[in-house]
Amino acid sequence: MDLSSNLGTMSATILDGKKLAESVRAEVAAGVSAFVAAHGRPPGLEVVLVGDDPASHVYTRNKQKASTEVGIRGKLHTLPAATTEAELLALLDGLNADEAVDGILVQLPLPSHIREQKVLDAVRPDKDVDGFHPINAGLLASGRPGLVPCTPRGAMKLLDLAAVKLQGARAVVVGRSNIVGKPMAQLLLAAHATVTIAHSRTKDLAAVCREADVLVVAVGKAELVRADWVKPGAVVIDVGMNRIIVAGGPNETQRTKLVGDVSYAEVAEIAGAITPVPGGVGPMTIACLLENTLVAATQRFSAKVA
Ligand code: NAP
Repeated sequence: MDLSSNLGTMSATILDGKKLAESVRAEVAAGVSAFVAAHGRPPGLEVVLVGDDPASHVYTRNKQKASTEVGIRGKLHTLPAATTEAELLALLDGLNADEAVDGILVQLPLPSHIREQKVLDAVRPDKDVDGFHPINAGLLASGRPGLVPCTPRGAMKLLDLAAVKLQGARAVVVGRSNIVGKPMAQLLLAAHATVTIAHSRTKDLAAVCREADVLVVAVGKAELVRADWVKPGAVVIDVGMNRIIVAGGPNETQRTKLVGDVSYAEVAEIAGAITPVPGGVGPMTIACLLENTLVAATQRFSAKVA
């Protein structure tokens, strides 16, 4: 299956996350049909959104729509910004106990009066399709099966698409968040790469990045990584999603565009393969959420049988 292409004069293979995500969704849809045939009901995913963040509204609607498209029963709970922590925890208690619910996702960020960690810890680990619960983080760190965060999971599939030999490769992950950087580093380590995690205090970040055969960047700083930070032929996975203003004065409508943490045009000249933004890691995150929901549903049923 050829999911990659070369565009224009650029030398890097473009890792087409949109196309790869379509094939993951098709596999999930087939798995969901088999699940329905075996258990008489579809896997259920409940997405919980608190507050008015416009981007979160878009993300959660997309997650619900995508789940319905593959046959998962997707339900969106939209709660007002004034929802208390106790009310949110009570909703999660109910979803944890509901047999028809296989996956629970609480959209971040939460309003500042709600403790994020307390809420994430309250999701039952076997329904934690975001993979953020400390039990799932611990299982990943110990190399044991559990639910893996969707964005790093999607990034690993893109590396697979690039046919990268990870065993023995030098991998550098820039960013050490619990949702992207750390789990990404764990997955690369499990695949036998030699992994360096870089962050805001790393000295001479450019030199550290230049050592990478595989460079994963999850920082949140538009176009931070330049061409001279990248080893020729390296595979570059750009997780960043930054909205920047491209035009518009005081009397004009502002135009914005989405860019990654990597300066795409110049890095594409030197890298062996690269993910575009948009159309790289982003679509894979939702596809992997659907996959995680099917995995969670299947594992809960097999745990009941065992
Ligand atoms: P985060 O929690 O803010 O973490 C950012 C990390 O980058 C931190 O570890 C920070 O270091 C490090 N950092 C910040 N400035 C740096 C610099 N100048 N040099 C080196 N490291 C620096 O962010 P996140 O949640 O991991 O997300 C990272 C990016 O990925 C964001 O753009 C986000 O929108 C995007 N994202 C995309 C998807 C997707 O589906 N495509 C999913 C999730 C996130 P310290 O730890 O030292 O502060």
